[in-house]
Amino acid sequence: AKQAGGNEVRFFLPGMLTEVEQRFVLQQAISQALAQQQFCLFYQPQLNHAGQVVGVEALIRWQHPERGMIAPAYFIPLAEESEQIEAIGRWVLQQGCQQLQGWQRDPLLAGLSVSINISVRQFYQPDFVDLLTGLLRYYQVNPAQMTLELTESLVLRDLDDAVHRMQQLKALGVRFAMDDFGTGYSSLSYLSRLPFDEVKIDQYFVRQSEHGEKTRDWAIVEAIIGIANTFGMALVAEGVETEAQHQLLLASGCHYFQGYLFARPLAVADFEHWLRRR
Ligand code: C2E
Ligand code: CA
Ligand code: CA
Ligand code: CA
Repeated sequence: AKQAGGNEVRFFLPGMLTEVEQRFVLQQAISQALAQQQFCLFYQPQLNHAGQVVGVEALIRWQHPERGMIAPAYFIPLAEESEQIEAIGRWVLQQGCQQLQGWQRDPLLAGLSVSINISVRQFYQPDFVDLLTGLLRYYQVNPAQMTLELTESLVLRDLDDAVHRMQQLKALGVRFAMDDFGTGYSSLSYLSRLPFDEVKIDQYFVRQSEHGEKTRDWAIVEAIIGIANTFGMALVAEGVETEAQHQLLLASGCHYFQGYLFARPLAVADFEHWLRRR
């Protein structure tokens, strides 16, 4: 796989160990983190064109007893090389469902949707549909409030299988978002075959409008917005950092936004506090 063995692992464990040893130690630490509940979910708000918060993306963090907060880039890629990602992925889904259930008691929070990042291995697990069915039932979650974020490389690994699985999951009532759109192969032909409800434009494209003017790449953003509209998919811009980007995206027909301009990913108590103060 991609970059899992390199700098991330060395950051975690500087010193004299070989790379193989470092990876092994990090894998042990990940198992321990699961057992000792050192992972937590942060939530980043998603807003509509009117500035109302409509949902959140759940983003995993590792609260390491000695190293403090560790970002997913330092452990998700390595976890994705083994079954560890399946255990992490189950934990994330369970936490997300539990959070949705907890929010039902509060009118301010009850309508929010939660978006969950799904890894390739997790998605193609034979019991993935059963797992999600069980969790939605156990936590009495409205499936329409759960969005599964899939990447292009995930669906392209086996397009027919992906379509089949997505249809099974859609039958439960969950929604799907195409994550990081525009960064991979981005073929329009497969997008039309897959039942996505939402497309997330990658930060890379959002950054092309830093100063509020339309660069050449902005034509791609407008094309993506056009495709999403044609297929009746909602469009979410990720990584919106400036008001200029926000305004340009609005003017180009994008309706949902996520980024530091509005809020960083927040611990659940901070997110609830942030929402109440608005
Ligand atoms: P992603 O799904 O593309 O998530 C968006 C990333 O952009 C997050 O990084 C978020 O904190 C960051 N971000 C949000 N707004 C802004 C902004 O305005 N500017 C900039 N520069 N960045 C912004 P994070 O939380 O470090 O997550 C990185 C990646 O790790 C995610 O990328 C996703 O691929 C993966 N990941 C996170 N949580 C999970 C999880 O629970 N399961 C799995 N399988 N992967 C996860
Ligand atoms: Ca995502
Ligand atoms: Ca993304
Ligand atoms: Ca990404």
